[in-house]
Amino acid sequence: MPRTDAMLADRRLVAAQDRLGRGLVKAAVAGAQQRVREGVTHPRDAVDVALSLLPPTACGLRPVVNATGVLVHTNLGRAPLSPAAVAAITAAAGYTDVEMDLADGRRARRGRTAMAALAQAVPEAGAVHVVNNNAAALALAATALAQGKEIVVSRGELVEIGDGFRLPELLESTGARLREVGTTNRTALRDYQDACGPGTGFILKVHPSNFRIEGFTSQVPVRELATIGPPVVADIGSGLLRPDPLLPDEPDAAGTLFQGAALVTASGDKLLGGPQAGLLLGEAALVERLRRHPLARALRVDKLTLAALEASLLGPAPPVRRSLHAGAAELMERAERLARRLGDRAEAVSTVARVGGGGAPGVELPSAGIAVDQELAVRLRRGDPAVVGRVTGGRLVLDLRAVDPGQDEIIAAAVERACT
Ligand SMILES: *Cc1c(COP(=O)(O)O)cnc(C)c1O
Repeated sequence: MPRTDAMLADRRLVAAQDRLGRGLVKAAVAGAQQRVREGVTHPRDAVDVALSLLPPTACGLRPVVNATGVLVHTNLGRAPLSPAAVAAITAAAGYTDVEMDLADGRRARRGRTAMAALAQAVPEAGAVHVVNNNAAALALAATALAQGKEIVVSRGELVEIGDGFRLPELLESTGARLREVGTTNRTALRDYQDACGPGTGFILKVHPSNFRIEGFTSQVPVRELATIGPPVVADIGSGLLRPDPLLPDEPDAAGTLFQGAALVTASGDKLLGGPQAGLLLGEAALVERLRRHPLARALRVDKLTLAALEASLLGPAPPVRRSLHAGAAELMERAERLARRLGDRAEAVSTVARVGGGGAPGVELPSAGIAVDQELAVRLRRGDPAVVGRVTGGRLVLDLRAVDPGQDEIIAAAVERACT
């Protein structure tokens, strides 16, 4: 049996320890020794086997090619970052001037350039703040503005987002009381007016971002809610800063503020295409109250988030936005090229892609992809990088809308490997 210390002293495994740390390399060595013990590996090959067992990085997360046709896929990490955002993260990874003005050497406002970029993107906001995610933004608003008071909200907007996350429970956990008004399908201005009074902290408007109620329905727009008196807090969900002609029913931050919302909350990693973050935009005095609240410190974002958010706002369009706006004909061309390359193993097909849990429920985006034998699904999912598609009609469809064109070749190679 090759000794552990002798194996760890091998030049290649020393280099691996510099890259991955001793623990991961020792685990791979133990795995190789186990194979020697079982007689599957010759002792002389133990180091080679240990090298083959090393993980690619010191992190268990593996890269995935998202061929599901769902642009914002929560299980796959929502928005992929743009190369500009990745470069910004790398630049900020070391020591960085996140809270120092290098010109005069004094303390400066944390993340001021990211805040300036957000403020510039939405001039309708008197001030902006960024927290860990949209749930944190809502928790902060409820704590700072409605603790011991009431949040008036329509019964049609008491939503569950996913993984059992229920907005009403989050809001009540802050010590605010929910005052539900209206019914599931219909709520009128009168319902809100009757419920509002001295005990009202704010009126909450929640965008139903992952479902639709159709038929005999009515909701009250922010424009009308803003006439009642208490501040209107609007959770727009997906993080569109300005209207998008492709998504006419999706509220945007600028438009919602223009309608009279005192505060808008949104996610950074949905349609905005940035890192996980909760955006708060609104009246300067309100935002300042939130920023100064003790809880704000517990919800603070790190320098990497600030870096990625700023680059997503100022840099080239992030991948989610590019995927959203890709033309169906261009996607079909890519699918046909892939299908030609793969011969009888794949067929180009028209598909329907979706925005996903991040917003725009019901919006169908015409798309294209390749259909392959559904038996390949498991092998592709377990490959490196993993390729995840969706099984429909007895075949595995790899939808190209959420796939960067630079990854088409990776898909072709992965399918070829999975076929052999
Ligand atoms: C996604 C979503 C949330 C939760 O946002 P996170 O950033 O995941 O915390 C809250 N409200 C709405 C309307 C959403 O769409």
